[in-house]
Amino acid sequence: GEKQLTDINALVDEYLRLAYHGVRAKNKAFCAVIKTDFGARTGPVNIVPQDFGRVLLNLFNNAFYATQQKKAAMGDTYLPEVRVCTSCEHGNLEIRVRDNGTGISEKVRAKIFQPFFTTKPSGQGTGLGLSLSYDIITKGHGGELRVESREGEYSEFIIYIPASVVAA
Ligand code: ADP
Ligand code: MG
Repeated sequence: GEKQLTDINALVDEYLRLAYHGVRAKNKAFCAVIKTDFGARTGPVNIVPQDFGRVLLNLFNNAFYATQQKKAAMGDTYLPEVRVCTSCEHGNLEIRVRDNGTGISEKVRAKIFQPFFTTKPSGQGTGLGLSLSYDIITKGHGGELRVESREGEYSEFIIYIPASVVAA
């Protein structure tokens, strides 16, 4: 794909809906609070929309999966929440995808960007989502993909793309 001036907030909104509908199609009882905080000056930004969409979908699917896992363990006292924030400070684009699901242990965190690493049962995960996403963000867009997490509490994935790339 080629870089195109893209409305990042519209892209986030589209893929967030897609991911949520996909999850609910398979798990009718599932319900999550979805929060978006769209920065005022986030675009249009110069990215490859198809590639970026794949990254977002990966992150959203992972987030919903982690909250479903926690729901299965905790039951109705737990309310799944996925929050997506976009911002563009000094022209640098940042997208944060946070969920209050299972979180990630330090041991697992060390491996999540490796191809084929997965903790999901066979058939439910290829282990390619984050390694592909990492390549798209770093090699494809000159950016960074980082994670912050506390086991049992939350995970937050942070996409950062410098102004030199996203500026038209
Ligand atoms: P897959 O989803 O196929 O397992 P990924 O590359 O997308 O592959 O993710 C690799 C692993 O990283 C997952 O199996 C899971 O252990 C961990 N992971 C990724 N995102 C999250 C998240 N939001 N919460 C908890 N664990 C996560
Ligand atoms: Mg995945």
